[in-house]
Amino acid sequence: MNIYPWHLKSWAEVFSNKVKMPHAYIFYGAQTPEINKFADEVIKATLCSIPTKEQFACGECQDCLWCEISHPDLNRVVNTSEGKNLKTDILKVADVREAKEFLQTTSHQTNGKKIVTIYGADRLNHSASNAILKIVEEPPADCLVIFTVNNLNDLLPTIISRCRLISLAKPSIDDAIEFLKQTDNIDLIDNLSLYNNLPLELINDKEMLTIINVVLGELKKGNKINLMEVNSMWLNNGLGWIINIFQKWAYELLLCKLSDEHNYFPNDTEVVSKLALSADLSKLLTYQKSLNTIKSYAHTAANKEINLNSVMIEYKNIFTH
Ligand SMILES: [Zn+2]
Repeated sequence: MNIYPWHLKSWAEVFSNKVKMPHAYIFYGAQTPEINKFADEVIKATLCSIPTKEQFACGECQDCLWCEISHPDLNRVVNTSEGKNLKTDILKVADVREAKEFLQTTSHQTNGKKIVTIYGADRLNHSASNAILKIVEEPPADCLVIFTVNNLNDLLPTIISRCRLISLAKPSIDDAIEFLKQTDNIDLIDNLSLYNNLPLELINDKEMLTIINVVLGELKKGNKINLMEVNSMWLNNGLGWIINIFQKWAYELLLCKLSDEHNYFPNDTEVVSKLALSADLSKLLTYQKSLNTIKSYAHTAANKEINLNSVMIEYKNIFTH
């Protein structure tokens, strides 16, 4: 099984009737890599000539081997500029047009399907939207179109109405803990809430956990923080990454101050409560604003160390004693 256990229900939905599969699916959810992985497994399973009883790809037939390189019945539309500028990088009509032409050709397999997958289909310009609509309005026989999206609202309603929607859920806390156990990462369980109970993101940051604990150790000192301890190693994963940790910590202090509740740091309730008590509310709110501002330009900041130092000085000054 190559899909995450918390996606099994969605998997069963996709393959509930393989003989009468719809022409188009939209896989949607918040975690882009997970959705894309799910889509890739659905593609493999659909093209595999001898799938398992649960409809997973066998991994050994000619079609499965082709999938690893380039399958003649598969066309993937990927936004090649992805990641450079999320606000402006969008799919353009040229990206989609080729996919439409591809679907008109006949399948390589006897009675097989032609598959087009459009990753990140919610980030596309107006002409590309219309080109996609054309594909799902008049789907050629035996084709399967798969869209992966984060934001359903950014797709034309006319596209949505012609597709089967499959939601990809986040793991429950039990799923997340079980996954950490199964992948030999049980020692990370205490950090799960800091990662919104998303085990894959936590495992991804595993190497940085020592630094996270050093940073948290300093934050816990409140106004007794030692600014000499601020280290450029903290910036190893980028300024945005470390600001993200400060934001969660500041949110925790505010949540505790206003409602006596805790969220990200369930093991540190005592120290958080103490700090929240001595924090000046208006300074804490201003600090959160400063963090938001720095986060917005973190990837282009010229001097990341100066930004990091100013954040730490501002943090130290939040506390009255
Ligand atoms: Zn196979």
